[in-house]
Amino acid sequence: NANIADLDPEIAAVLDGELGRQRDYLEMIASENFVPRAVLQAQGSVLTNKYAEGYPGRRYYGGCEEVDVAEELAIERAKALFGAKFANVQPHSGATANAAVLHAIARPGDTLLGLSLDQGGHLTHGMKINFSGRLYDIVAYGVDPETSLIDMEEVRRLALEHKPKVIIAGWSAYPRHVDFAKFREIADEVGAYLWVDMAHFAGLVAAGLHPSPVPYADVVSSTAHKTLGGPRSGFILTNDEALAKKINSAVFPGQQGGPLMHVIAAKAIAFKVAAGEDFRDRQARTLRGASLIADRLIAKDVADAGIAVRSGGTDVHLVLVDLRDAAIDGKQAEDLLHEVGITVNRNAVPNDPRPPMVTSGLRIGTPALATRGFGDEQFTEVADIIAITLRDGANADVAALRARVAALTAQFPLYPGLAQY
Ligand code: PLP
Repeated sequence: NANIADLDPEIAAVLDGELGRQRDYLEMIASENFVPRAVLQAQGSVLTNKYAEGYPGRRYYGGCEEVDVAEELAIERAKALFGAKFANVQPHSGATANAAVLHAIARPGDTLLGLSLDQGGHLTHGMKINFSGRLYDIVAYGVDPETSLIDMEEVRRLALEHKPKVIIAGWSAYPRHVDFAKFREIADEVGAYLWVDMAHFAGLVAAGLHPSPVPYADVVSSTAHKTLGGPRSGFILTNDEALAKKINSAVFPGQQGGPLMHVIAAKAIAFKVAAGEDFRDRQARTLRGASLIADRLIAKDVADAGIAVRSGGTDVHLVLVDLRDAAIDGKQAEDLLHEVGITVNRNAVPNDPRPPMVTSGLRIGTPALATRGFGDEQFTEVADIIAITLRDGANADVAALRARVAALTAQFPLYPGLAQY
């Protein structure tokens, strides 16, 4: 029963180092967040020891009476939070949730229509070497290169031409609301299932600050760990009882074995937190932060340096920066912001002239900083630091910018009281 520092000092050093990194940097990767302490506790609990193949009340193992309660709570809270009739909370991750969705509603060889990876879609929406691209016949829609918006007429044209079995709406990098009603109309017109992957914007939906896909989609999949701020994992919603049965058997035994009960308990906690008033306030600050950053990046001094904001702004928790006309590329911008103390990720722009490991774009997200407590005042400062760093590029005064970041991180301690190992 040695503690981690005694048993494995090398791993203890990684945990300590990562806690320090998260505290000292401004975390602006759009898909990341900081979970509540209670989620850390649940994930580090004895529930990790339990096998519970099956579903509550119908397990293939004995001794599931306690974990059944956790899973029932997670299911009921997910349903209530998103207004769905059925929920499956067992997917280990967003990718396995998506694999289960396709397992439930399509067969290998069927045609899927989704947003292409290089224009903001996810790997599991049909990327060539992902299971989705290997098992299914993929047709992809893109975004308009001028406006960066999904062209719904193009989606309709492709749907009519290819008659897909499944139409996928949802994204990993897109700065605007998606027109779920229009997607529904097109899916009905061609007799396709509509699957919405709300992984990125689920927290905004839970807070009522983003249109909900639940009334429109046949199936909704999500992760719990992006804007929603829970443990790394996935879940699936539907209002259709027959589909719910197919989804349950697609998750287990179709895609997974034993569910991660410690993660399911942590998901239950995250859904409870997401139903609260504080969570709504946090999501509102997330949105305000992203629009303050977009506004600062479209100011003249930045635009004059060839830097643009795709779609001219944002409706969500992220900003997509276009560096095609800038002196710095995506990789240099990511590295320079890292030196300044801000963590973001480079991101391809449509028809990116630079290779995928370099890119001409950045994706900047605000969920983690909003969780840390940032509001308008801090996001205005963050926006200015980012704008000056990108504008000045190789000439940026890194030390001065780093000091401004340090003032912000000091003002909002992360996990106060959480000790090092
Ligand atoms: N779906 C979307 C839209 C995503 O952006 C992501 C993650 O980036 C996933 C699914 C996959 O989630 P995970 O990394 O948990 O497999």
